[in-house]
Amino acid sequence: MVKISIIGASGTIGKNVAFTLAREDVIDEIVMYSRESSHNRVKGEVLDMYDALAAEDIESVLTASSNLEDISDSKIVLITSGVPRQPGYTRLDLAVPNAEIIKEYSQAIAKYAPNSIILIVTNPVDVMTSIALQYSGFEKNRVIGLGNHLDSLRLKTILAKHFKIHNGEIHTRVIGEHGDHMVPLLSSSTIGGIPLKYFVQSTDLEPDELVSRIRNAGGNIISKKGATEYGPSYAISNLIRTIINDSRKILTVSTYLEGEVEGVYDVSLGVPVILCKRGIQRIVPVRMNDYERSEFFDAARTVKKCTYKIRELLEE
Ligand code: NAP
Repeated sequence: MVKISIIGASGTIGKNVAFTLAREDVIDEIVMYSRESSHNRVKGEVLDMYDALAAEDIESVLTASSNLEDISDSKIVLITSGVPRQPGYTRLDLAVPNAEIIKEYSQAIAKYAPNSIILIVTNPVDVMTSIALQYSGFEKNRVIGLGNHLDSLRLKTILAKHFKIHNGEIHTRVIGEHGDHMVPLLSSSTIGGIPLKYFVQSTDLEPDELVSRIRNAGGNIISKKGATEYGPSYAISNLIRTIINDSRKILTVSTYLEGEVEGVYDVSLGVPVILCKRGIQRIVPVRMNDYERSEFFDAARTVKKCTYKIRELLEE
């Protein structure tokens, strides 16, 4: 029995993930938890989704709930609750109110679904991953943040379009902060197995422009349509599918570091990990050039500073 719960299910990401997962054969039940004030809306979403699923002969169980006890026995609990980023907001502007929300839900997950894996989406996601780890009391392999996996997909799209090559040929990765201090690992990116720097057409690639496009990708979408939707939802589904199927893919997620990558410790950042049914099987140490390493250290300093500040405020 594979049960997944989504906390914040009335929101854009929450409901999109529910609908995406409802089409997965390997998931038996999806609990769409929302606060009481959104419960009726989520009930409506469930009914609407059932109609769509019937059109594809898919039978899934979707449960609208405003009772946190209903998340019990979940394999994965996804938290998407939070104040969404407005145009002009940085992810760090959201840290204080969202940390309160993550603290409360992490404690509830520890109580009702103590064997689950927590997947955090709420921004600033790297800070929130540390907060969820602290307040759930879970082992770190069971607390995972989505961030750089989405950024990596965005980089993949940009490179595929630039070179006019199928995106499946692009192997690339963004690490560090899911925010201004993200670090695209161009030095280890490959196209069809060929390192980017040896790829014949790479001479007209402007690394600075590329980096700024990925950094602004989320903000650019928000400025045009008000929220990001399909990208994060599919990225989350990717992570969940990889965990449920024990696929052991190497994906980039936010995880609490204790020196595994370049000696960085006591901060959660996006790094490549092997994902399995237990959550993170292990962190994959990654080789960086000098520039990337110094950017990664900048990300660590920035996120650590914010995490420490938030921890202090939560303890007051
Ligand atoms: P949204 O549509 O506004 O939904 C957020 C949900 O949070 C609401 O529907 C509500 O859920 C809950 N919520 C709002 N205020 C709350 C409060 N004071 N206390 C408890 N719950 C509250 O936002 P979204 O677009 O789905 O985005 C959700 C989060 O994901 C945001 O923090 C956003 O920045 C982040 N995000 C992260 C990534 C990433 O890659 N990590 C990508 C995109 C977005 P209920 O009423 O159902 O409880």
